Amino acid sequence: MNIPDIIIAIDGYSSTGKSSFAKLLARKLGFLYLDSGALYRGVTLFAQEERLINKLNQVSPELKGALAELHLEFGSDGRLFMGPRCIEQQIRAMEVSAQVSPIAAVPYVREWVDSQLREYGRKGRIVMDGRDIGTAVFPNAQLKIFMTASEEVRARRRYDELVAKGETPLLEEVVQNLRERDYIDSHRETNPLRRAADAFELDNSELSFEEELAWVVGLIQGKFGIL
Ligand code: C5P
Repeated sequence: MNIPDIIIAIDGYSSTGKSSFAKLLARKLGFLYLDSGALYRGVTLFAQEERLINKLNQVSPELKGALAELHLEFGSDGRLFMGPRCIEQQIRAMEVSAQVSPIAAVPYVREWVDSQLREYGRKGRIVMDGRDIGTAVFPNAQLKIFMTASEEVRARRRYDELVAKGETPLLEEVVQNLRERDYIDSHRETNPLRRAADAFELDNSELSFEEELAWVVGLIQGKFGIL
């Protein structure tokens, strides 16, 4: 498809399959895929390693200054690096999932992440997924999608993902983590998770990847008049 240099913003609740869908779409369009959640996870890992967050999810005010020393970057294959170290595996673990939402609710953390995301988006031709991409990071994105799926489907997907990575989570624990993150993400003061007024909603509880892709291709063709 010959499509203009647009930004596609994909937002939604945890484990709605945003990143798999966004990756697939980016590949289909020849766009860059960017996972904004990975940066929040990277900041969380950093805060944990530097002992700037405690077990009660209290964030030390020193994190603000420490962010100046933090270098997070995506490799060409999309994996996240902290300086020279690939941290892709660690940022996906339950330990990070358990503390990422409180960290992501801190306004200066959001500012830090947003400035990195906007830099990547300067030239367009990206598909970015997250919670506030269409509402706050790129409010002028030319195409916005808001993804949903039933809690049961989301928990099962996340559980299978963790098991495939060799973790041994309890399904209950996974459900609890999804609920907590969704609650914190949609109730925080700074840029909470919500559907942008001009976003198209996609409930993928019962859709295959092929069906999702066909839906979005139809949408793009209609919106940009491309055959
Ligand atoms: O997308 P993922 O589940 O990996 O994101 C991890 C966490 O990062 C989310 O639960 C949310 O708290 C936070 N996040 C955010 N805004 C974004 C992307 C992620 O607050 N744009």
